[in-house]
Amino acid sequence: MDETPRNTRRECLLGVAGLTLPWMLNPSGVTAAPSEVPPPPKDAAEALRRLKEGNRRFAEGTVRHAHQAAVWRDHLTAGQQPFATILACSDSRVPPELVFDQGFGDLFVIRVAGNLIASDVLGSIQYALMHLRTPLLVIMGHEGCGAVTATLESLSGQGTEPRYINLLIDRIKPGLAGIPENVNGADRVHQAVEANVRWSMRQLIASPEGKQRLEDKTVTLVGAVYELATGTVRFLD
Ligand SMILES: [Zn+2]
Repeated sequence: MDETPRNTRRECLLGVAGLTLPWMLNPSGVTAAPSEVPPPPKDAAEALRRLKEGNRRFAEGTVRHAHQAAVWRDHLTAGQQPFATILACSDSRVPPELVFDQGFGDLFVIRVAGNLIASDVLGSIQYALMHLRTPLLVIMGHEGCGAVTATLESLSGQGTEPRYINLLIDRIKPGLAGIPENVNGADRVHQAVEANVRWSMRQLIASPEGKQRLEDKTVTLVGAVYELATGTVRFLD
């Protein structure tokens, strides 16, 4: 797999300066000069800012659908340089590229029910950090998560899921141990969703590879929860 982009994004943008492309359009439909299209983030802080700005556009309905034109996809055949790695749930209502208004080549996305940590997931994250060198890693859960809800039911003795779903549930269970007994209903799911994100973060931090990369500051780890109703992503402290 070629891991080194042949051209930088900026070079690509400059290379098509004479064209009017969909990703150059701002929300009002006015064509923007290529120089107004921002270059890739230079560090984790800027990457996080880019995600927050994209989510704000998404929630406000002012998405720009950048980095989707044929010329951009052609540029990406030479390699990829995503600026963030996202571990998210498989839930059809939480597609990270749409939630953050990003395009092709912008995000390295791993999706699994319950945004949980397993060996395959760790392998994908390790690939993104080692070979693609994404400066930012986001673990994003979401309100109303079915995998988390099924885990709560299993913990309360009401679980009736088949074997492979129970394997997922078993990976989520340890993270929900601290939720108070007297929290019920939607509040319990709400707390469990956030607790599950923090559980995935703790497992990453505890792994030797994750610990090393966080200590040498080659990656910044951030937790987040997507709100179904508002379309906003709440980043955790
Ligand atoms: Zn989910």
